[in-house]
Amino acid sequence: PKAVQSDIAIAQKATMHHIRDIAAMLGLGDDQLEPYGKYKAKLPLSLAEKDQCKYGKLILVSAITPTPAGEGKTTVSIGLNDGLNRIGKKSMVVLREPSLGPVFGIKGGATGGGYSQLLPMEDINLHFTGDFAAIEKANNLLAALIDNNLQSKSRSLNLDGRTVAWKRVMDMNDRSLRRLVCGLGGLAHGVPRETGFDITAASEIMAILCLADDLPDLKRRLGDIFLGFTFSREPIHARDLNAQGAMAALLKEAVKPNLIQSLEGNPAIMHGGPFANIAQGTNTVIATRTGLCLADYVVTEAGFGFDLGGEKFLDIKCQSAGFDPCAVVLVATVRALKYHGGVELAHLAVPNTKALSRGLENLTKQIENVRLFHLTPIVAINRFATDTDEEHQVILDHCQFMGVQAAVMEAWEKGGEGAEELAELVAATADQCTAHYKPLYDWNQSVREKIEIIATRVYGAASVEYAPGALKDLEKIKQLGLEGLPVCIAKTQSSLSDQPGLRGRPRDFVATVREVEIASGAGFLVPITGNMMRMPGLPEVPSAEKIDIDEKGVISGLF
Ligand code: ADP
Ligand code: MG
Repeated sequence: PKAVQSDIAIAQKATMHHIRDIAAMLGLGDDQLEPYGKYKAKLPLSLAEKDQCKYGKLILVSAITPTPAGEGKTTVSIGLNDGLNRIGKKSMVVLREPSLGPVFGIKGGATGGGYSQLLPMEDINLHFTGDFAAIEKANNLLAALIDNNLQSKSRSLNLDGRTVAWKRVMDMNDRSLRRLVCGLGGLAHGVPRETGFDITAASEIMAILCLADDLPDLKRRLGDIFLGFTFSREPIHARDLNAQGAMAALLKEAVKPNLIQSLEGNPAIMHGGPFANIAQGTNTVIATRTGLCLADYVVTEAGFGFDLGGEKFLDIKCQSAGFDPCAVVLVATVRALKYHGGVELAHLAVPNTKALSRGLENLTKQIENVRLFHLTPIVAINRFATDTDEEHQVILDHCQFMGVQAAVMEAWEKGGEGAEELAELVAATADQCTAHYKPLYDWNQSVREKIEIIATRVYGAASVEYAPGALKDLEKIKQLGLEGLPVCIAKTQSSLSDQPGLRGRPRDFVATVREVEIASGAGFLVPITGNMMRMPGLPEVPSAEKIDIDEKGVISGLF
């Protein structure tokens, strides 16, 4: 294989098209574009008006259970879109925006890799169009309004500060802000209470922005944010502080999708970026709808394995927005399957069909999971340089045995050309799709039923246990009349089970729900299993130390 340079070297060698020309490919004129410089633009909300256009086919890219070996969902999504364009299809890729946390922490952006990248990668990975900053401001405005009300004499809502879980956020990995006491200093400095910071991607505002249909719906969801109880146990929402108008005003640009391009000059949208373990892990509804209105095929990604991202995409996002996906691409790698088969990280480059065969049980389960939704899985084997043909054949044979179409994809090394076979399979499957997908549960089922359906059928748990705190939360949810919300289960991404160390296909385990959080603005409940990190820390050697800018303004050290 030809030597592949670093992602940033490849990206900086590319000649970008003016964003006007990318928009023109979608039939959009200057009056439908709000350029942010030459290579990025916001698209107007009018392009995504509900029921105003004929939708293209929606294709979800998901994966087997992630391992430290990497799967490459974003890389495959971008490459698949380039491949679809190469075989003459009018296709777009619609993805999440990166968070600064991982950019400065452990090497990792969100613009793909190799010859499957989105541009301008430096801008996208560093601030982009400022959406995260706006989300942070809206979130922190609400926090300021809460603390101001606790201080108020004449307009006090009688809010019990101890019941308020709302935190401030910022887009940085900074563990020292996790737990704080604010309001210290005496009478003039607020009412002391325990609080902290989360990373912006983990905020409920991010989840709200990503599920909102339009501005009125955004405002309604912002007003519905549950804040806590009064001393007489009355619930208080953001609307009781008249917060939703100003918060929505701060989000007026962030709510519009961002148009960019791939290395091969194909159109792409990146918009919103919620965490995939505690939130829905996929780009905004508005962006997906804009894509579906502009293209015949829309390739999109949901974070982590299909058990997390795929399930939430289908049971929450698609149900909420009325989307009907046509196919699911499951990304698998030889390396990750060997890891599931018990091989340690250091030995993944050594051919080992035995371990690979053992690890296939994870792929098997994720294929079964896709079929639970009456959808057609297609397996994309994301080829790494250390793979052997023999190993690929083991996966291909297994897919054939399971009646699943599969293709080796080489977009990382070759761009869209390396994704043509996959593109043909995906386009054919999407074109044949006539039936509607079937969600796993009905939102009206009880909260426990919803949790148990997902845990037993998708994760493979034998049963579900509830900690005393979780049972109390379920009582509270009943009191608040929120039982009809879907559940967005927070679970480790490293295992099908709720225990990060269990690889492959864990069986006979008991999933434990520790607590159930309320995200009434986003419109879901968050049953929490394990320990969820909402404010990551930086590693011993942060990638920030390698990032630089020269006298001409050229960035280096980004991946
Ligand atoms: P995900 O979306 O699943 O988190 P990404 O597509 O962001 O994964 O890829 C994670 C990392 O792996 C990126 O740095 C990317 O460049 C790299 N990568 C992806 N596919 C390949 C491949 N086939 N060969 C080598 N590196 C790859
Ligand atoms: Mg990704």
